Amino acid sequence: MERARQANSAGRKAAPVSDHHTLPVHEVVLLLETDITKGLGPGQVSRRRSQFGANMLPRSKRGGMWRKLLRQFNNPLVYVLLAAAAVTGVLGEYLDSGVILAVVLVNTLIGFVQETRAEAALDALHSLVRTAAVVLRDGQRQEIPSEDLVPGDLVLLEAGDKVPADLRLVRLSGLRVDESALTGESEAVSKDEVVLPVGTPVADRRNMVYSGTLVTAGTGEGIVVAIGGETELGEIHRLMGAVQTVATPLTRKLARFSSTLTVAILALAALAFAAGVVRGQQPAETFTAAVALAVGAIPEGLPAAVTVTLAIGVRRMARRRAVVRRLPVVETLGSTTVICSDKTGTFTENQMTVRALWTPSASYDVSGSGYGPAGRISAAGKGAPEGAAVEPESTQDAALYWSLLAGGACNDAKIVLDGQLWQAQGDPTEAAMLVVAGKGGIDVAEFLAANPRRGTLPFTSERQYMATLHSPALPGQGGTVLVKGAVERVLELCGTQLDPSGRPAPIRRQEVLEAVHGLTRTGLRVLATAMMHLPKDAGPLAEEVLEGRLTLTGLQAMLDPPRNAAAASVRACHDAGVGVKMITGDHVGTALSIADAVGLRTSGEGSRALTGSLLDAIPEHQLPDAVEQTNVFARVSPEQKLRLIGALQSRGHVVAMTGDGVNDAPALRQADVGVSMGRSGTEAAKEAADIVLTDDDFATIEAAVEEGRNVFDNLTKFIVWTLPTNMGEGLVILVAILIGGTLPILPTQILWINMTTAVALGLMLAFEPKEPGIMSRPPRKPDRPLLTWVLTVRIILVSVLLVAGTWWIFELELAGGASLAEARTAAVNLFVAVELFYLFSCRSLTRPAWRVGVFANPWIVLGVVLQMAGQLAITYSPLMNGLFHTAPINPETWLRILGIALLASLVVAVDKRFRRTGF
Ligand code: ATP
Repeated sequence: MERARQANSAGRKAAPVSDHHTLPVHEVVLLLETDITKGLGPGQVSRRRSQFGANMLPRSKRGGMWRKLLRQFNNPLVYVLLAAAAVTGVLGEYLDSGVILAVVLVNTLIGFVQETRAEAALDALHSLVRTAAVVLRDGQRQEIPSEDLVPGDLVLLEAGDKVPADLRLVRLSGLRVDESALTGESEAVSKDEVVLPVGTPVADRRNMVYSGTLVTAGTGEGIVVAIGGETELGEIHRLMGAVQTVATPLTRKLARFSSTLTVAILALAALAFAAGVVRGQQPAETFTAAVALAVGAIPEGLPAAVTVTLAIGVRRMARRRAVVRRLPVVETLGSTTVICSDKTGTFTENQMTVRALWTPSASYDVSGSGYGPAGRISAAGKGAPEGAAVEPESTQDAALYWSLLAGGACNDAKIVLDGQLWQAQGDPTEAAMLVVAGKGGIDVAEFLAANPRRGTLPFTSERQYMATLHSPALPGQGGTVLVKGAVERVLELCGTQLDPSGRPAPIRRQEVLEAVHGLTRTGLRVLATAMMHLPKDAGPLAEEVLEGRLTLTGLQAMLDPPRNAAAASVRACHDAGVGVKMITGDHVGTALSIADAVGLRTSGEGSRALTGSLLDAIPEHQLPDAVEQTNVFARVSPEQKLRLIGALQSRGHVVAMTGDGVNDAPALRQADVGVSMGRSGTEAAKEAADIVLTDDDFATIEAAVEEGRNVFDNLTKFIVWTLPTNMGEGLVILVAILIGGTLPILPTQILWINMTTAVALGLMLAFEPKEPGIMSRPPRKPDRPLLTWVLTVRIILVSVLLVAGTWWIFELELAGGASLAEARTAAVNLFVAVELFYLFSCRSLTRPAWRVGVFANPWIVLGVVLQMAGQLAITYSPLMNGLFHTAPINPETWLRILGIALLASLVVAVDKRFRRTGF
């Protein structure tokens, strides 16, 4: 069996071994030569890694490449060109026919390269968001990249994790898994360890969990039975061909626009051809003219340019540490009107240090900074470090001992020395509590050795506390429960408080709340600690056991400084007309204090802050008003986040919302822009998000909004630049057909203009840096068309200038005795010159061309140089003259071309000066 599995994993042909669900655990262990108490050893891991490779889905196959190449030919313009090549061939114009075919080929290759690069850029993003897996290897719990998993590894799962490979479960507690990625069933399924009969379908295999699915609740352990392409997900991936699309609503809309336009233009060309023939014009010539009309007027570069602009935007965002997971969000970002962000880690550093302690009988200061052990606890107000250090066990304050012990033992974090630096592993809040326990002289390891943990109620955003059960307990007792969590929640559970001598006394809630108020006012994050003794026969640890029976032991207040850049980013958002709201699970006092520090507007018509319970009390119809007017929301649960988004959206807001927990997934999906945290976020949140912040920083959301706006600007610039070319070319030919005159530009010359200028000039606009005022204008309305009336008129104006200029120079050259080839060469060069000058005008939609630094976008300079070299080649190289029916022109003609191009630019500049486009 193992051999079969290995053969599979190594990618050789064999039916997948998918019957691990039919075997008892010990057989799976034997089969995969593993150990469910210690996991694999280092030697086994490296052997299996080299044998089976990385735990990754296989990259798309070569066949995909060919299909993509062929897809480039499936385009109306290509059909027109192929028909034109065929007809010109039949007419004996082999050279023209060859040029047209060559252009088709070059065009498809360019399309292919662009599409491949855009996809590669998106693919590369996935590796920026790496998923991690927790495994037991050689008896040690380790966090490793998911790619490094090998068959036989023992994986530990908890709520929020993405299952990293196909696993046969060996132990679990309340494990529920969302398997919608695999089965389409959105309801999470419960798992257990029972052996199942042969033939059980994947969706019913309760003793297995599959790669790509999400743990929504509970914990579990499982043995890796399949990795990479051999997983069930790999199978689906293979079946679907793993198509990575680069389509967004906008690209689809533009593609539709292009194809409608193409059909209309083809109809117009056919009509023009028919009219010409009816009027007695030469059919062959008229056909050529009709082809020229079609080729010129179809905006073939548009869809590709949009994709490229989006891809460049995505790359820029990644450079600023915002990884886009769903491409359409790039468009939405530019229209975002409200950013709802959590506090911890986003507005703050998520670097916690306990600074103050409170017990029912005393207050203490704590010295030292970071996660290092240096520092001590002294009586409050005595000014650490001068005040005498307090040794909890030797003081009269038993509550201090129990508070520090709860903080240290009801804890899953670790502190490690990394070089010179003490680092927190796990939750920073827990790490801080572990450190302060050490400063108080509590030996947590010793306590745990004597009182191992027998049960855990893990922390979740809904529960708002964590509890652990330890035994053997004090003589004659069943066990000790240690609790730490949000003050309000822990207070609800407490019936008593610990007096200095270690006896429970009636709780004085008001005093506790006053202490909390004093501590949170300065921005400290406060957690409460509590404990209780459980009798022997109390049963397992459960929420109901604690209700009203806990004894409060104290408060721990930690500093989590605001991030340096947060205040500036909030200001930038406000200037940009983007509202910022803090939605936090923390206490309202801490939230308000941090909100003030980062410059969130907290006074206005509404209340300064709303808490989750107040939110619940607001009737639905009043909610939108209340939410719009308030900027700080504290003690908010994930479900309340959904209500907040709904209220804002009902007012037409485009909402960006952050989230990191497993229960934030629905809110992230509901938001217009779901943002999750790359460092502290769960896999479930990342999976549901549109964007992942690799640095968890609020400033990065602001940066992403800025980049989103830039993408739209650059798209508009490209469209405003490209459409006059197509309209101009179409009109030049249409006029020729209508007046029955000679074509001033031939079809192959039109192809030359279109292909070279689109790549060398137009595409360079995608690299244009941000406009200076990009964050001082209001957000773009989502339904606002790309082209405003002002821009539409400008496009028509430039088209008319192009048509008039081309005809004028063509006729002027002919009248001056130039040959037809020379006159056409002049017309082609004029066309390109006007486009080139106009390109500089399009670099900014509002500022005059000379205000935009020429070198601000070096790509434009490169493109212009290339285009000029191309024009010289087509004008003076005998080979190109032969291919494109051109001829050398003299310096006076160049001067005339330059004069007209300058004049056209002047007209555009005047138009821009007097008719500003509104954003
Ligand atoms: P934000 O929502 O801004 O990230 P937060 O970390 O305070 O802030 P949650 O993670 O929902 O939000 O936590 C809610 C509250 O639960 C915290 O304010 C804290 O009092 C308490 N808490 C946080 N982490 C733990 C933990 N590991 N164990 C016990 N209680 C915790």
